[in-house]
Amino acid sequence: MQPEGQPLKGRPGLADIGAVADQPTANDRDGAAPLRAGDFAARTQADHGSADGDLHVCPNCGSGLVYPVEWAPADNRSWQVELRCPDCEWRAQGVHDQAVVDRFDEVLDLGTEALLRDLGLLARSNMEDAVERFVTALHAGWVIPEDF
Ligand SMILES: [Zn+2]
Repeated sequence: MQPEGQPLKGRPGLADIGAVADQPTANDRDGAAPLRAGDFAARTQADHGSADGDLHVCPNCGSGLVYPVEWAPADNRSWQVELRCPDCEWRAQGVHDQAVVDRFDEVLDLGTEALLRDLGLLARSNMEDAVERFVTALHAGWVIPEDF
């Protein structure tokens, strides 16, 4: 049991302090509108315009989906990072300053949050489709009490 007055969580993550609110996601659309493939693609296209030196931007194809494959501490507050782009299979290893890696880590956290939101949205959309089909079946008489 937690002593009174002590927070249940450690340092608040970016999602806890509302830092992801400015990121356009599929969640921003009207909840009644049908889910479209473009809802997800729009966000990845918007990531292409990031500043130079951002590790999440692929220097080969411009994708904003580069992620770390491996990383290890290097000398003088820097990290050795192996990167991979899932869109063009570009790979690179390099040593990057702590500040650059910290910014990359924040972008990865935001990406994780966005994926979780989109997963929830997709699950909800699938559930709405299932409910609609069930209601249609009920009204058409295709489901009867003996089915249960
Ligand atoms: Zn690429």
